[in-house]
Amino acid sequence: MRASSIFDPALEQQDPIARRAYLGTRLRETVAWAHSRSPHVRRVFDKAGIGPRDVASLDDLTKIPITRKDDVPAMQAADPAFGGLLAVEPARLQRIFASPGPILDPQGEGDDFWRFRMALAAAGFRRGDIAINSASYHLTPLGFMLDNAARSLGCVVVPAGVGQTDVQVRVASALRATCYLGTPSFLYALVKRGREMGMPLPIEVAFVTAEMFPESLRAELEKDFGVRALQGYGTADQGCLAYECPEQGGMHLHPETIVEVLDLETRKPAVPGQPGEIVATIFDPAYPLLRFATGDIGTLAPPGTCACLRTAPKLAGLVGRVGDAVKVKGMFIRGAEIAKALEGFPAVARFQAVVTRDQHQDHLAYVVELAEGAAPEAGLSDRIADTLREAMKVRGEVRISPRGTLPEGSKRIDDRRTWR
Ligand SMILES: [Zn+2]
Repeated sequence: MRASSIFDPALEQQDPIARRAYLGTRLRETVAWAHSRSPHVRRVFDKAGIGPRDVASLDDLTKIPITRKDDVPAMQAADPAFGGLLAVEPARLQRIFASPGPILDPQGEGDDFWRFRMALAAAGFRRGDIAINSASYHLTPLGFMLDNAARSLGCVVVPAGVGQTDVQVRVASALRATCYLGTPSFLYALVKRGREMGMPLPIEVAFVTAEMFPESLRAELEKDFGVRALQGYGTADQGCLAYECPEQGGMHLHPETIVEVLDLETRKPAVPGQPGEIVATIFDPAYPLLRFATGDIGTLAPPGTCACLRTAPKLAGLVGRVGDAVKVKGMFIRGAEIAKALEGFPAVARFQAVVTRDQHQDHLAYVVELAEGAAPEAGLSDRIADTLREAMKVRGEVRISPRGTLPEGSKRIDDRRTWR
C-alpha cells in the first residue's frame, strides 16, 4: 500500500502557538479586504457595531456575526446574484455553480481554489497517477473541486462524472487508473461492477467525500478490492475544511481555514466529543465567507498528537444536519424544497421522503398521499418523480399511497439509515 505525503510541512506541521498567530494574521487581512469589498460583510459588521479594526487576532473571531448557509438563498434572491458575499468583480471568476438550495457558488482564481490538494496528497495521490473522477461536473462544484486539486498535484484526470457505471469500468480498466475521486458509494458500485464484468479495477487509492463513509464500507473496499480510501469534509460554498491522514481516527482540520464546532444551544465552542454546528471561516479574496454556519453537525476528536506528524486538531466525524435537510447520494434534500416542488401538483395532499440504505447505496422513496377526492391519473407518479428529480438532483421512487398511510405529524424526511 502506497504512502501519503505531507504536502506542506510549514502549514501541516505548525505548532499550536504558530498556528494561532498564522490564522489570526490571515483573519485580520481577510476581514480588512472583505469589509472593503463585500456588501454583506459591511452590512453585518455595521449591524454588530464593529469595524475591521476590531478584528486583530484569533481572539477577536467571535466578535464577527455568524452568517447562516440556510439564509443564503434568500440573501441571493434579495441582492442578486451573490447576496453581497462576492468580493471581486464577477469577471474575475473562473466558474459559477448553482447548487441545490438554490445557492450560487463562485470559483475564484487559483489552480486549487477549494484547497483539496492537501487532502489528496494525504490520501496518496501523486504526480502521474491516472485518476477517475466520478463526482458531478454539472451545476454543482464537486467535480471541478476534485479535478483541480488532482491536476494541481500532477495527476491525469478522467472527468467521468456521475453514472454510466459500465462505461466508467471499461475506461478505468483500459487506462489502468490507479486513483478514484468521488462518493464512497459509487466507488463501491464501480469496483463491484468491475469484478462482475471480469475487469477488476486497478484502483489503489481513493479520496471520497460528500457522503457518510461507514467503517464497514472502508474495510470491505480494502479487504475485498485492495482500495485504500480516505475521506475529506467540505462544502460547496467553502471547499475543503478537513481531511483524513493514513492514521484515520478523524479528519485533520485544514490548516488554511478556521473551523469552529459550536454548541447548538449556547453557540459556545463545543467540547471534544460533544456535537455542535460546524462554522467555518475561509480566507479567499473572491468569496471571503466569515463564520459561515454550514448546517452540518460534527464533533471534535479529543486533543492529542497524531502519528502522521500533522498537528491540526481533528474532526471526529459528522453526525447530521441542523434543521430539515439530509444528504442522499451526496446531494442535500430538504423538506421545504420537496414541498415547493410539489406545489405544482394540486392532487398531492401530503408526502414523506424515506431514505434507506442497502449494499452501501442510498435509496430514496417518496410516499405521496393524494388529496380527498383526487384520482390518481395515468403517469402522475412519473411526472412527480421527474419534477422532484429536477429539484433535488437525485432520483427517488414515488409511491402513491392511500390517505392515512402517513401518521399525523410525521416528519417530512424520514432518514432510516444507520452508519456502522
Ligand atoms: Zn494524522
